[in-house]
Amino acid sequence: MQNPAETISIVESIAVLRERLSPWRGAGSIGLVPTMGALHAGHARLVDHARRDCPFVVVSIFVNPLQFDRREDLERYPRALQSDLEFCERLGVDVVFAPSAGEMYPAPPSFTIEVGRIGDHLCGRYRPGHFRGVATVVLKLLDIAQPHRAYFGEKDAQQVAIVRRLVSDFNLPVTVVGVPTVREADGLALSSRNRYLSPEERTLALSLYRALSEARDQIAAGVREADRVKAAAISKIPDLPGLKLEYLEIVEPDEMQPVDRIDGPVCVAGALWVGSTRLIDNLHCIPPD
Ligand code: AMP
Repeated sequence: MQNPAETISIVESIAVLRERLSPWRGAGSIGLVPTMGALHAGHARLVDHARRDCPFVVVSIFVNPLQFDRREDLERYPRALQSDLEFCERLGVDVVFAPSAGEMYPAPPSFTIEVGRIGDHLCGRYRPGHFRGVATVVLKLLDIAQPHRAYFGEKDAQQVAIVRRLVSDFNLPVTVVGVPTVREADGLALSSRNRYLSPEERTLALSLYRALSEARDQIAAGVREADRVKAAAISKIPDLPGLKLEYLEIVEPDEMQPVDRIDGPVCVAGALWVGSTRLIDNLHCIPPD
């Protein structure tokens, strides 16, 4: 099938998006990459995977108010629609779906997705209602675009685990693809929030990756007690006024429940406040046989 779009188009209306996508339905060919914009090379990796698999690629850009637990964070979240569009065009995206909050939520929703125990730990514990907002908007986006495949970054490990469960619990006809985290050369995970960091904070931010790497090394060396691994990891976060570790946890990767012993693959995940910026990261770790 030929791509009916000559160049990238931006669509703000749900009805128009559905119309644009209808020729591609049934052919197993629509890939959706949900984002909140302020796009970077991490998002580009998701688009690359989508382009490889799907003839028609939609990127959604929507700063979802429902998933912000702090109003200040929502207002401060970076918005860069014009440069995002150019970025998407260079990547060969077919359609950017950038709805307004009013288009997505014409009225406060009467129904939201209640996330079970998979949302109890890690970010879910510190950001009340966050994953309810994420699951609700993801369900809406999947229903609006009805993609065959949807792409999510493993940088947000709990998010992708929740989306997988959402899709399986509701029998949604979509394949969820998890994409490995894209990092700077020194290991810092790319994030839209990195642009808030001053040069000094940028240096301090790396301690989260250092802590996770220490955990990975300890696990690879055969340490099985989660508390020992955590203590070694946390020791890599300097005790400085600008740094505050929110959590560093070791969980099993499907239900995201903390483990005492590391007897199989685990996700070591952390959230670090660097000044007024909250950064998250994680590493998938496998103990030796
Ligand atoms: P966001 O715009 O931050 O909501 O992210 C949109 C998607 O991009 C999510 O699925 C993220 O997990 C993914 N993502 C963000 N940063 C990265 C990264 N450094 N590497 C890979 N995927 C990422």
